[in-house]
Amino acid sequence: MAPPGPVVIVGAGIIGCASAYELAKAGCAVTVIERDTVGSEASSAAAGMLAPLGESTRSDPFQELALASWRLYPDTVAELRAVTGVDVEYTTTGTLHPLFTAEDVRAAGARCNSPLAKQMGLALLEGQEVFEREPAISKKARAALFVPGDHWVNNQRLTVAYAQAAAARGVTFRLGARVGEVMLERGRGVGVVAGGERVRADAVLITAGAWSGELTASLGSRLPVEPARGQMLALSHVPPLLKHCIHGADVYLVPRPSGELLIGATVERVGFVRAVTPEGIGSLIRSALEVVPDLADRPITRTWCGFRPWAPDSLPILGPWPGVPGLAVATAHFRNGILLAPITARLMKEVLVDGKPSLDLAPFLPDRFLK
Ligand SMILES: Cc1cc2nc3c(=O)[nH]c(=O)nc-3n(C[C@H](O)[C@H](O)[C@H](O)COP(=O)(O)OP(=O)(O)OC[C@H]3O[C@@H](n4cnc5c(N)ncnc54)[C@H](O)[C@@H]3O)c2cc1C
Repeated sequence: MAPPGPVVIVGAGIIGCASAYELAKAGCAVTVIERDTVGSEASSAAAGMLAPLGESTRSDPFQELALASWRLYPDTVAELRAVTGVDVEYTTTGTLHPLFTAEDVRAAGARCNSPLAKQMGLALLEGQEVFEREPAISKKARAALFVPGDHWVNNQRLTVAYAQAAAARGVTFRLGARVGEVMLERGRGVGVVAGGERVRADAVLITAGAWSGELTASLGSRLPVEPARGQMLALSHVPPLLKHCIHGADVYLVPRPSGELLIGATVERVGFVRAVTPEGIGSLIRSALEVVPDLADRPITRTWCGFRPWAPDSLPILGPWPGVPGLAVATAHFRNGILLAPITARLMKEVLVDGKPSLDLAPFLPDRFLK
């Protein structure tokens, strides 16, 4: 079999870097073109939670995709560590959802009874059990739902680790070059125009995050991908107060081994307005103190925002561009792009090299928006 041809990837977020690594491992000559630097957008703004069950324990195609990616994590982080030496702070102590009302306790108890919840070890902790596990939780909590399978990583480090592993496999990174157009010849994707220069390839993969919509406008039919702004802040977590991720009604708290406690995140449809606001950061702080009051005097170390790539049905867009051989897209990962990076990269390698994905992509194909 002939070796797979060259591939150009647009965007060096986690999806572009992970896909570059998988394609290079399959023997492709890969060039990643990024208008800024590696991981400069959503992939660095994220909290890094790997929470495949989300709010539900209902089985659906999205959850199958999420669980498939979650299962790849232990081997992925070990492989990246072996290749690059980067410790991505993969942490597996699980999430606690403190419950403050009888109604919430009842709902959480019911949630624990689904077959998937049992398989994933969800448990309702009551009374003193909660404070034995996590003493800093508000004493107003009546109970807590424990989700042991919720893990997290340092997403900045993970994106860099993927990029370094890709570079070690010969991937070329062209940073500071904006892709203005995908080149088509006789109905095929044959490269891109970046910084005014034509870069030819056998295939183009668009992983431009929240900007994927504007890039696809040059193809005549625009994908409806839009930014969903998320604001976050970090507190000093030295000495540490929490061992678990804590999930309140409108807030989550993620303790990083490197000494920060991340608090996130708003979900706002305000376009590409790159700003944190008193309302956004203030509401996160108020909600965080309701679940862990002892954080009140911890220094705030930083605040930031990022743009999640969002599609109208909140599902990722993955797969070949209909009717255009040599063009594929992997975007709109919305709140789960860090979790979904390993499976997305594997699927994009399967689409572009093997021509056959190992999971049914039907619910995620770009076709659903391009009729
Ligand atoms: C506050 C916040 C918290 C989050 N928390 C989590 C979480 O806990 N767990 C989780 O799984 N996910 C989380 N996410 C979601 C996750 O961050 C995203 O889904 C994921 O990072 C998307 O990755 P990406 O590579 O598609 O996009 P990005 O990281 O945005 O990368 C896209 C890249 O493309 C580049 N680009 C764009 N246009 C062009 C062009 N024309 N030419 C060249 N380059 C271009 C951009 O500069 C950028 O670097 C969070 C997101 C936010 C904002």
